[in-house]
Formats: sequence, structure tokens, C-alpha cells
Amino acid sequence: MRVRIFCKTLKSNKKLGNSVQSRKMTLHKILVFDSKSYDEKTLKLALKALNGQDKLRFTFLESKLTEETVDEVQGYDGVCVFVNDVVNTHVLDAIHKKSDTIKIVALRSAGFNHVDLETAEKYNIKVCRVPRYSPYAVAEHSVALLLSLNRNMHHAFFRTKQHNFSLDGLVGIDLFGKTVGIIGTGGIGMCAINIFLGFGCKVLAYDVFPNEKAAKEKGYVYTTMDELLRQSDIVSIYAPLLDSTYHLINKEALDKMKQGAMLINTSRGGLVDAKALVECLKSGKLRGAALDVYENEKEYFFNDYSQQVMEDDTLARLISMPNTIVTSHQAFLTEEALKNIAETTVQNLLDFFDGKPLNENNEVKAPPKTEQKK
Ligand code: NAD
Repeated sequence: MRVRIFCKTLKSNKKLGNSVQSRKMTLHKILVFDSKSYDEKTLKLALKALNGQDKLRFTFLESKLTEETVDEVQGYDGVCVFVNDVVNTHVLDAIHKKSDTIKIVALRSAGFNHVDLETAEKYNIKVCRVPRYSPYAVAEHSVALLLSLNRNMHHAFFRTKQHNFSLDGLVGIDLFGKTVGIIGTGGIGMCAINIFLGFGCKVLAYDVFPNEKAAKEKGYVYTTMDELLRQSDIVSIYAPLLDSTYHLINKEALDKMKQGAMLINTSRGGLVDAKALVECLKSGKLRGAALDVYENEKEYFFNDYSQQVMEDDTLARLISMPNTIVTSHQAFLTEEALKNIAETTVQNLLDFFDGKPLNENNEVKAPPKTEQKK
């Protein structure tokens, strides 16, 4: 794979004047991978808002962190990465070899399934994250996907653009009164439950740690995974990707779903067996599927490949179907979420380099051996 490095450096606006030098202020250099214009803008604003310009200097790379780009870390004190950067054993080994000055990996995400935490710990590299930046952003995107899929907005938009005002093939269903199955009732799942209850849907939920108090107060019902799959007209996933949840929605689970049901996934691609989903959609069992995440997304998502032939046949097939919508892992992408991500990331880095303990929810440690994140 050809690797292109795009790099911009943000130097502190303030010159290091005598007063700063006399306080022996150290400017810590952070290499930001997979950086887009909105990351650069929000991180710069957060640095200013938190008065961190004399302590941190960001260098922005458009490229993802991979085994091919890891050489870039030389001379930096920390790296800042997003969901499709690779922070596996090989990359951490290479980071350790190339640059023993790297002391922290700051994730601009809540999920840390892409990080080998044990290897990071072995090299004494801290890992921090942004545990909660806007559950509303992700929940609302999943509902937007469902509404678009159900009411065929993806077709209607292009038809009227071409002055085609026919309604054939655009029939949807009322969501009012339908049963929605929510898998994972944490921050994002709970926001989605509130929205679906507001639509007048019956909500069934499955979680390994059910919140019975919330269920009673709000008026939704916990059930088993099997019952949820059998009874739901819509199944929407809000659980993390763990060893135990890898391919949670596989052929067997898809077989259990109701004829004509819809599947929504804004969580992590690995939760759904994409090949099994393609077969299921081909068979006509599901009414449709809408995905913001895909198990092999890191090859494509966040970049423009419109001039190239897609090599991933499963993704190409999923995109090509009339009853699917695929978005490019954009559920988090609201102004509010970006501001929170940038401010928490900068605060994590400032705390770390100031020698303060990291917020315990923001520090990520290797899980007990029995439950490894995938
Ligand atoms: P959370 O930790 O608040 O909630 C996750 C819930 O899933 C918890 O209640 C947990 O008990 C439950 N869970 C764990 N294992 C389960 C299992 N086997 N079956 C059912 N439930 C299980 O997390 P959150 O903030 O609600 O985020 C949920 C997921 O959304 C994240 O793990 C992340 O993968 C994804 N996410 C996606 C985007 C995006 O842009 N698409 C953005 C942020 C988060």
C-alpha cells in the first residue's frame, strides 16, 4: 500500500518569552494521526480554551497510524489517534523501538478495541480516551439511518433531484406501535430508547448488566437476546466490541430475526458478520439494513476512494443494494461531540504531562485476562 504523509504543524502562537523560559516550561510534542480539518480546528480551539499553548504542540497528519507510518513518531512525546488507527502489538513494538520518548497514546474516541493495552502497559505507555462526548450524536444518527432506510429517503433524494416525482417503491412502515430491540443500554442505547419511546414504539432491551430501575421508570422491558431478535421489527446495536460480542449478529442471530425486520448498527463493525448479512439481505429476509460501521472499514472509511475500484467485495455488495444505507463512521460527527472530544483530549494530555493522575474514567488499562477488548 502506498503511504502518503500529509503533515501540518501547529506551533504555539506565543513566542517562548523570558518569563516562560524562567518557569522551565516544557513543550510536549504530540503527533495527531488521521487528522481532518475539523480535528485540527477543534484541537486548536481546545488548546487555547485550556491555556495549553505553552505546554503542548500538535503536529497534524492526515495519514492513519499503521505499521507503514509508524516511523513518523520519532521525536514526539505522545500520539493522538482515532478509531481506525492501528495501535496493535506490532505498531507499539515499533513505536517503542523508534521513539522511547512516546509516553502516551491519547484516543479521540470512547472505544479502545483497536489498542493492545497489554503491550502499551509493557512499554509504560499510558492510554487515555474520551469516554463520553455526546451519546445524543450517535443515538440520533442511528435514528436518522432508520428513518432514511424505512422511508426510502436515499432514493427519494435522487429522484426529485432528477425531477422524477414517482412514488413507486418508496413505501415505508409506521414506526408508531412497532417493537424496537435495543442491544446495549449504556449511554448511547439509553438515548436511543428515549427517542423510540417518544415515537410511540414498544422497546425491548438486552444488556449483560440490565438497568431495571431505568426500565421501570421509562417503560421499556429487558428480555433475552433470542426473544429480542424474534420479536423486534427493528434491531439496533449499542454494545461495545469485545471478544464476547464479536459477530454477535451472525447467521444464527439473523435467522432468528423477524421476516421483514430492519437492522441498524452504529456501534462497531465487528459486531455484525457482514458476509452473513449480505446473504441474509440477498434472501429477502430483512427489509433492510443501515450501517455506520463495517468490520473492515479501516481500509476505506474517512478517505475519498471515488476514483478507484473497490477491492472489498462485501462492502461493495452492501453499498450496492437498494435496501441498505452505509455511512462512513460519522455518527459521532456533531459540533458538540467534536468540541467535547477535543477538550477532553487536551485535558488528558495536560494532566498527564503535569504529572496529575488522569481522570479514572479516561484512563484505559488492560482488562482482566478473561475479557479482552477485540
Ligand atoms: P456504554 O459503555 O455506555 O454502554 C455499552 C453497554 O453495552 C453497557 O450497558 C454494557 O453493559 C453493554 N454490553 C456489554 N456487553 C454486552 C453484550 N454482550 N450484550 C449486550 N450489551 C452489552 O457505551 P456507549 O457510550 O453507549 O457506546 C456504545 C458503543 O457505541 C461503543 O462501544 C462504541 O463502540 C460505539 N460508538 C460508536 C460511535 C460512532 O461514531 N459510530 C461513536 C461512539 C461510540
